[in-house]
Amino acid sequence: MCGIFGIYNHRDAANLTYLGLHALQHRGQESAGISCTDGEIMRTHREMGLVSDIFDARVLSQLPGRSAIGHVRYSTAGSSTIGNAQPLMVEYSRGYLAMAHNGNLTNAKIVKDELQNYGSIFQSSSDTEVLIHLMALAHEDSTVKRLISALRRMEGSYSIVALTNHELVAVRDPHGFRPLCLGKMRDGYAISSENCAFDLIGARYVREIEPGEILVVDQNGLTSYKPFKETTHHHCIFEFIYFARPDSHMFGKTVYSVRKALGRQLARESAVEADMVIPIPDSGISAAIGYSQQTGVPFEMGLIRNHYVGRTFIEPRDSIRHFGVKLKLNALRDIVKGKRIVVIDDSIVRATTGRKIIKMLRQYGAKEIHFRVSSPATMYPCFYGIDTPSRSQLIAASHTLEEINRYMGSDSLHYLTIESMRKALGKGDYTYCDACFSGSYPSRFPWGMELEQMELFAKGEK
Ligand code: 5GP
Ligand code: SF4
Ligand code: MG
Repeated sequence: MCGIFGIYNHRDAANLTYLGLHALQHRGQESAGISCTDGEIMRTHREMGLVSDIFDARVLSQLPGRSAIGHVRYSTAGSSTIGNAQPLMVEYSRGYLAMAHNGNLTNAKIVKDELQNYGSIFQSSSDTEVLIHLMALAHEDSTVKRLISALRRMEGSYSIVALTNHELVAVRDPHGFRPLCLGKMRDGYAISSENCAFDLIGARYVREIEPGEILVVDQNGLTSYKPFKETTHHHCIFEFIYFARPDSHMFGKTVYSVRKALGRQLARESAVEADMVIPIPDSGISAAIGYSQQTGVPFEMGLIRNHYVGRTFIEPRDSIRHFGVKLKLNALRDIVKGKRIVVIDDSIVRATTGRKIIKMLRQYGAKEIHFRVSSPATMYPCFYGIDTPSRSQLIAASHTLEEINRYMGSDSLHYLTIESMRKALGKGDYTYCDACFSGSYPSRFPWGMELEQMELFAKGEK
């Protein structure tokens, strides 16, 4: 659950990276950082907080150079501290190396234990640091060869940008869990988690970094490597459902169109008599438009969002998260009063958002409330870089549909079925991971690690 960005060969490298991160802010609001090199010295600035709070003209002027990488983070593996903020930058025997990672290396703990037994000293609890250690220990002479040898040891998901004094490197794991794409500027290149960032900086979208590809950008231009064994691709379906920005294009599709198709599919299998369809903004909007177009039931903005508060899900403490829903959303009394309403959201995690909203709608006089979810029930945790909580906190893992409906206070509740979700994505060249709904994880975890991984993700407070 992170966003990564890179610029090669542009005189405003740090400024463009700042803008790129700003466009990727939805991918993580906990910390942000930029590493920039002028070809001799590499400098990094990282802080907790939002991109626009961390970077200003003064900070950016202290990051001179023509190539840069950046990162926005919400912690999955590793706790929420400045030491785990990225990019991670080191100066080792081969010079400077900075790395920004989106994903989760599922065997990081095993490899880290091994390295520590041999005397390695770690500065953070981030799984990404393991990769840097492996690269430092590798004997190969080029950055790309050391990176390949390090990645051969690792499992799980990774989209990575790495920076040395002379190269920008982009990598995607062989499953292609997380997105990553390439853009072109006049004399330079850009790499981004999502292409919505290219529109902002005026880069032209070229293509996705392919699953299993390592793309080196240096003075010779682009060089692509495919060193790993081919495997079935497993693009994260949750990027489409919730995580990515609707104006991004990934895994061959525009996110907005997929969300609308999910909404249409939802309507086909669960339409009810109603006076209006209202989304829980912003995450439910595109699906609600699809639902409305399919059924002919009018779309209304029955809930108004205050955009000046962060996502409530992000707030780690329970007491504040409950309060947060009211901070963020208010219902339009005159619009909802006496009406039969279909409320659409993209997903239910703990059901706290839906419950609060239904209570508010009832207070404001709504007559019927039918809750519709444009994804299947989230029953399993994600091990590939999305911050779903441990199983015990996923309401659908331990409660029946009827129990959840009762808890939320809705008149009826329906989740999209897994079959319909797959149908909405259509047949094509792309294959997906949907393990958080289906439980069929595309990779094996190291023997005996499942439980530990669960605990890692539980993080105590989630
Ligand atoms: P709940 O209140 O059920 O715990 O959370 C549901 C809401 O959280 C939905 O509106 C959905 O958009 C949002 N959501 C679902 N998954 C994630 C996630 O991984 N991260 C964040 N920040 N929000 C999420
Ligand atoms: Fe995405 Fe879910 Fe698979 Fe995680 S488990 S990669 S969130 S589809
Ligand atoms: Mg939401």
